[in-house]
Amino acid sequence: MESIIELKNINFNYQPEDADPALKDVSFSIKKGEWVAIIGHNGSGKSTLAKTINGLLLPASGQISVGGKELNEENVWDIRRMVGMVFQNPDNQFVGSTVEDDVAFGLENQGVPRNEMVIRVTDALKKVRMDHLATREPARLSGGQKQRVAIAGVVALRPDIIILDEATSMLDPEGREEVISTIQEIKAESNLTVISITHDIDEAANANRILVMRQGQLVDEGTPEKIFSAGTELIEMGLDLPFPEKLKIALKERGIDVPQEYLTEERMVEWLWTSVLNK
Ligand code: ADP
Ligand code: MG
Repeated sequence: MESIIELKNINFNYQPEDADPALKDVSFSIKKGEWVAIIGHNGSGKSTLAKTINGLLLPASGQISVGGKELNEENVWDIRRMVGMVFQNPDNQFVGSTVEDDVAFGLENQGVPRNEMVIRVTDALKKVRMDHLATREPARLSGGQKQRVAIAGVVALRPDIIILDEATSMLDPEGREEVISTIQEIKAESNLTVISITHDIDEAANANRILVMRQGQLVDEGTPEKIFSAGTELIEMGLDLPFPEKLKIALKERGIDVPQEYLTEERMVEWLWTSVLNK
C-alpha cells in the first residue's frame, strides 16, 4: 500500500531560540486508508504535529509529503485541501447560523458553484446523519451533534485525510461514540485516512496503529494490542485508563494474578466471574 503521509526528521520550534523544540526529529509514514491514533501527555507535541501535516506550521527542518507531494510554500494550499481538521471545542467550530450554512461555508470559500454546493452539503449531512437537522441553529445541538456537523463541514470538502485533534474530549461517552462511529462509517465508504489524537482508550482502540509522543518525540508505535499491553505505563503515555484496567491494577496490588491483555468491561466481568469469584 502506498503512503499518503510521510514525515522525515521533522524539527519544529515555536521560538527560534527555544532550547526545547516542540518536535524533535519526528519521522513516520501513514498508509492510505489507515487509521492512526496519536497519544501522549498534554504538551507532548501532538497538535503541533497535526498542524505541520497540513502546513499550518512549517518545520524548521525535515521533509513532509502528503499525497505524494512535498509540502512547501508552493503547494501548501493543495495539501491543506487534502487534510481536514476537526478540533476539540465543538462551540468554536461554527461560522454559520444554521447547520447547512455552516457546512456550506468551506465550499463557498473554495468557490464551489451553488448547485454543486447544495449537493455536497446534503450528501455530507447525510453521511453524519444530521440531514434531518439541516435548518437547526448549531447552538441548539448536543456536543456530539455539533462535532458531527463539524465533520460534515470537512467531509463536504472531500479531503483524503481527516485529523481529529481531541475532537471527542469535550463530549460525554454517548457523544464520543456518535463521533467515532460516524468516522468509521465514512471511512468504510471512502477509504479515508484518519489520524485521531486522543486520551480516550476506546477511541485509540479503533486505530490500526498507535503513535506515542513524549516531549516532542515519537517514542513508541504499534498496534493497539501491543501498546495497551503496557498496563500502568499507559497513564504515563497520556491515556485515561478505563475502569477494567484500573480494576486490574488494584487486584494486582492485592496479589491477584490478572490477565496481561486489555480487557473490555464485558470480558472483565466474565473473567472475574469465572476465575476469581468461583475460587
Ligand atoms: P499537545 O497537543 O500534545 O498538548 P502541543 O503541540 O500543543 O502539545 O504543544 C507542544 C509544546 O509546544 C508545548 O510545550 C507547548 O507549550 C508549546 N506550544 C504549543 N503552542 C504554542 C504556541 N502557539 N506558542 C508557543 N509555544 C507553543
Ligand atoms: Mg493538543
